Amino acid sequence: MAVAADTKITDSEWEVMRVVWANQEVTSKEIIDVLEQKKAWKPATTKTFIGRLVKKGMLNTKKDGNRYLYSTDVSEVAFVKAMFNDLFDNVCDRQKGDVVAYLLSQIRLSFADVEKITTILTEKETEAVDLVPCNCLPGQCHCKIIKEENDHEKN
Ligand SMILES: [Zn+2]
Repeated sequence: MAVAADTKITDSEWEVMRVVWANQEVTSKEIIDVLEQKKAWKPATTKTFIGRLVKKGMLNTKKDGNRYLYSTDVSEVAFVKAMFNDLFDNVCDRQKGDVVAYLLSQIRLSFADVEKITTILTEKETEAVDLVPCNCLPGQCHCKIIKEENDHEKN
């Protein structure tokens, strides 16, 4: 089943997906065991989240004797990237660089990561601008607060 690119999952459903991503094919009991340990969830709670993920098309089910096996066609990396893109859709273009700098400062990197990021930054430097244009709607961003626009009109 194809999953829409805009499929949203909750933090709890994300916990279930991580078990499936880590193990490729799992039974509900295996998911329940992991999350009982990590989150102290009751089996019924975990089963509810599994059911929701099946409904959303995030999980495939396959009957195996008297039990079901769960798997997914959605790649974890692709999913996380899509979530970040979604999040960034809600951020002013002018603030994105600052957000990325903050994220970078918070994480541990391998030498290979540093090399990859350095290459990207070197490319970005050739196309950098003094001030990134803001394309937000007036009233939804600090760059174009409604009050400021009114003040400009008075001057
Ligand atoms: Zn803006």
